[in-house]
Amino acid sequence: MSGIYLHIPFCKHKCTYCDFTSFPNRLNFAEAYMACLYKEVAERGKMYAGRTFDTVYIGGGTPSVVDPTYIAGLMKQIRQCFRLSADPEVTIEMNPGTVDARKIAIYRNAGINRFSVGLQTANDEQLRDLGRIHTKADFVSACKLLKGCNFSADVMLGLKGQTKEDVKATIDLVHENGATHVSMYALTPEDGTPIYTDYLNGELPDGDEVAALYDYGRALLRDYGYLRYEVSNFTRNGYGSRHNLNYWKRGEYIGLGVSASSFMDGKRFTNTFDLDEYMKCILSGYFPVVESEEVGEQDAKFEFVMLALRTVFGVSASAYKKAFGSDWKEDFREAYARTAQYFEELGDATRIKDEYLYVQNRILTEFMA
Ligand code: SF4
Repeated sequence: MSGIYLHIPFCKHKCTYCDFTSFPNRLNFAEAYMACLYKEVAERGKMYAGRTFDTVYIGGGTPSVVDPTYIAGLMKQIRQCFRLSADPEVTIEMNPGTVDARKIAIYRNAGINRFSVGLQTANDEQLRDLGRIHTKADFVSACKLLKGCNFSADVMLGLKGQTKEDVKATIDLVHENGATHVSMYALTPEDGTPIYTDYLNGELPDGDEVAALYDYGRALLRDYGYLRYEVSNFTRNGYGSRHNLNYWKRGEYIGLGVSASSFMDGKRFTNTFDLDEYMKCILSGYFPVVESEEVGEQDAKFEFVMLALRTVFGVSASAYKKAFGSDWKEDFREAYARTAQYFEELGDATRIKDEYLYVQNRILTEFMA
């Protein structure tokens, strides 16, 4: 299975925690950027003409901030230049403050069948603190427009002053408004972002407090029927993200657009993070790749194990053997012996026990060595 990722780097406003490649003041470049993106799609499509892609993910930035006809044009270009499977999963990220009925209709007409809505929290004061442009009411309006659709909502933990009641209000809101999927993840205060100052001042909840919020949120999600399938991802009725599952299975994906990363033919490569450089390269007929590396066998084995252990499906011994011709527990004998108490067997797979999944990073550190 292979996926396509498309990066739309424009936003209305920079959130205080954001270190993604997003440009709040450059929406006037959207038309020129999209023309370049269409060109990159065409060129990469020629390179991978023999393959079938099963998922498309339009992320950002805020894809829903650009004119929706650009997104429809992008999907048309993808279908013309890449071979998609019969029933591809096509996702778009949306900020609730940038959605209207016309946009959703155009997206659906273009074949988009999954929506990822960036709620973060139902507390308007916390949304303002985060620099988000939307309110709780905007999220409710967006959900009304998405009624009956397969859509995910983002829930963020570790916000300034966040309580269990805040987490409950957020998850209640998501559930009541029909989300089929929830991504619940902890805020990471990155150096250089405004929120990093709050972190340095000790104003954000510490690791233990965030873990308690996570446990609380997870139990609530379970009560509402959202089952965890990856450390930060929960789904109802089997609506797991096929695109992300491909990442965790170490499947191939081609990333297109500024800053997009790819993993194809055993090689990882990344496009430039500079918008002007990206457009210049494309217009001059070059791929804007700035980093590229062949993944060696040891790294590949570690990636396989690390990614699989994030999920509740764990490491499949037969899939590992098929990929590398060896036994994963033998390849990581010492690390496995040091951490065996955290694992359980499930058929052919070994996975981290439910109660330790949230702290899987500590377990994986052993495997890194
Ligand atoms: S909407 Fe997303 S990409 Fe845009 S500034 Fe906020 S966090 Fe960053």
